[in-house]
Amino acid sequence: MPERTNTVGPRVLLKRIRDLMAEQLGAQERLDAIAREIAVRMVCEVCSIYVLRADGNLELYATEGLKKEAVHRSQLRIGEGLVGTIAASARALNLSDAQSHPAFAYLPETGEEIYHSFLGVPILRAGRTLGVAVVQNQAKRSYSDDEVEALETVAMVIAEMIAAGSLSGLVRPGLELDLKKPITVRGTGYNEGVGLGHVVLHDPRVVVTNLFSEDANREIERLEAALASLRLSIDDMLARRDVDFDGEHRAVLEAYRMFAHDRGWVRRLEEAIRNGLTAEAAVEKVQSDMRARMTHMADPYLRERLSDFDDLANRLMRQLIGSGPEGRGALPRDAIIVARAMGAAELLDYPREQVRGLVLEEGSATSHVVIVARAMGVPVVGQARGIVSMSEAGDPVILDGEEGAAHLRPQPDVEAAYAEKVRFRANRQKLYRSLRNAPNLTADGEPFSLLMNGGLLVDLPQLEESGAGGIGLFRTELQFMVASAFPRAEAQEQLYRQVYAAAAGKPVTFRTLDIGGDKALPYMRVDTAEENPAMGLRAVRLTLERPGLLRTQMRALLKAAGGRELRVMLPMVTELSEVAEARAIIAKEIQHLSRHAHPLPTSLKLGAMLEVPALLHNLDALMRTVDFVSIGSNDLFQFMMAVDRGNAMLAKRYDMLTPAFLRALRSVVRAGKAHGTPVTLCGEMASRPIPALALFAIGLRTVSLAASAIGPVKALLREVRLAEVSEIVNAALDRGEQPDIRRLLTDYAAARALTV
Ligand code: PEP
Ligand code: MG
Repeated sequence: MPERTNTVGPRVLLKRIRDLMAEQLGAQERLDAIAREIAVRMVCEVCSIYVLRADGNLELYATEGLKKEAVHRSQLRIGEGLVGTIAASARALNLSDAQSHPAFAYLPETGEEIYHSFLGVPILRAGRTLGVAVVQNQAKRSYSDDEVEALETVAMVIAEMIAAGSLSGLVRPGLELDLKKPITVRGTGYNEGVGLGHVVLHDPRVVVTNLFSEDANREIERLEAALASLRLSIDDMLARRDVDFDGEHRAVLEAYRMFAHDRGWVRRLEEAIRNGLTAEAAVEKVQSDMRARMTHMADPYLRERLSDFDDLANRLMRQLIGSGPEGRGALPRDAIIVARAMGAAELLDYPREQVRGLVLEEGSATSHVVIVARAMGVPVVGQARGIVSMSEAGDPVILDGEEGAAHLRPQPDVEAAYAEKVRFRANRQKLYRSLRNAPNLTADGEPFSLLMNGGLLVDLPQLEESGAGGIGLFRTELQFMVASAFPRAEAQEQLYRQVYAAAAGKPVTFRTLDIGGDKALPYMRVDTAEENPAMGLRAVRLTLERPGLLRTQMRALLKAAGGRELRVMLPMVTELSEVAEARAIIAKEIQHLSRHAHPLPTSLKLGAMLEVPALLHNLDALMRTVDFVSIGSNDLFQFMMAVDRGNAMLAKRYDMLTPAFLRALRSVVRAGKAHGTPVTLCGEMASRPIPALALFAIGLRTVSLAASAIGPVKALLREVRLAEVSEIVNAALDRGEQPDIRRLLTDYAAARALTV
């Protein structure tokens, strides 16, 4: 068969569908007529409409071209075949040879084996997949963008019919889509903890019911007016003092301002209106196209930007429909925020005390919003596919950050089990709070010090709440990671000043930029892709390679620390010459500032992070060179044991308490003592009570850990007779065998009923 060229645009098809909607027809008749109309107008041999049922199957509801007896008989599960794949991914599939697609499933009753080309689009409403619309041709051809657009536009109309209940007479009893049944969505836990509460849809999609426009010019005017007030409202937000104050939030808003002026976006919106849609329907349409194009992109930066765009589109929609952000309704006191993806700054918009958890369809352990949620101490489950379309605002939900699951509308027994778990945790929290001001002394009178790790403004309140003795690791790169462009020198200085203000005299150790490796800055130019970025041009290596970065940062730090002590440490030091080079750059900055009569820090302490095993064999020189050493156990363990710290397959295999690693740490502590150089540790190892106990047993007296871990670690240390534990652990390490230190310590704790 010769290749057909097709010229029907969405406008003609939409006009015909609109006429059909006005005719007096039964539900099946109308759906059949729509399928016929699509097939005719798009010059396709087949058009089929599948509708989602309560049992998760997609049932063939109407077809033009396939065997009629297959209607209401053929079905596919979500994820099965091409149709199921479209429903699962909520993305269109445009294939010139459908049968060679790995997901193709053959349904003999339909007679579709003779059709090669295939275009299917999801039938979506307010983010929920309600079905799939498909067209097929015998000839191998690829459908044009116009045709994809036409089918997607009609799919919006079908979604309205389903949502309005006009097809309910066609559903077999018992198979109506029940949106209220209990369901567990499994994903990945990105932050521990259990959250019990009610669903707050972060992005309560404004449902567009008015699709067809009477007058394209008028719709374009409406769009322009809405865009103008959207831009103004963003400018307003940027001008507000509290935003001005809040660095992370500001960076995101600046990105929004850029998008709101994006010509390509505006052009696509206008085009959709010219094709016959209302301005609001055009916004919805362009947004789902954008999503389809962008969600499968591997680049995490672009995916982050997609959520920014989503937020912007929603704001524009509200301008058009006239409902304010209060459309979300009053925020419950136990809000579990459910979102497909969201920007970091948006999470900061919610009052922290009302947020009990966060569930994302997307997200990764390192996405900005997850970093912020962790800083807020909110449990997070990510990769929870389908959660947005399955939940309704106000639904009860339980989020389990340990297991990585969200239980929507849970059964009473599930709820009771979790309520018990939450009560237990709350009691623990009460105990930790009561210890906040208790002396940091072990049961045998040994003093210890617990500092906290941080890196964002949202971390700062926890300094007070956790009772931390200061900030032992301030990860300055986080400010860079949540921004869309390099933070300016003033923004850096401002953040550091805020950190000092919040610390109120407690010591703070700033780490210079630790970027590169897995902490990529999307806006930073990289000339060559690295095969092993964890061992690549990262951390201090990178900032010495691009000294402008280090100079700017050091100047900001020196200025912010005027009149106070400045403690700075360098990440991933491998050779002492790196410390010397950094010191020279810092000295120049000090000179520069004093020439300009800036107040300087009262003292400067320069430290190195011990993360590369080579330094273990140069400890004496290291201790003589620096003012302090902080062991980065996350990286040191990764490099000593040759285990990628981000590789989940290895996570359970190797133990931080392995004797070889503990012996290495002990040698660092001993060298520090011999030279009078303070040694601390700031990796995750210190955030778990038993490994933390091992660290104190081998001689450390100060560690820096997650703020939420300070309570549990302090509770344990206060109950421990440290001399006893040190004796047990050191003797075991000295025996030269492979002692099971974890076992020794858990037995010790169990025998004395200690709080672990
Ligand atoms: C570490 O490696 O232990 C550390 C504290 O640094 P980061 O986790 O930021 O790499
Ligand atoms: Mg590190």
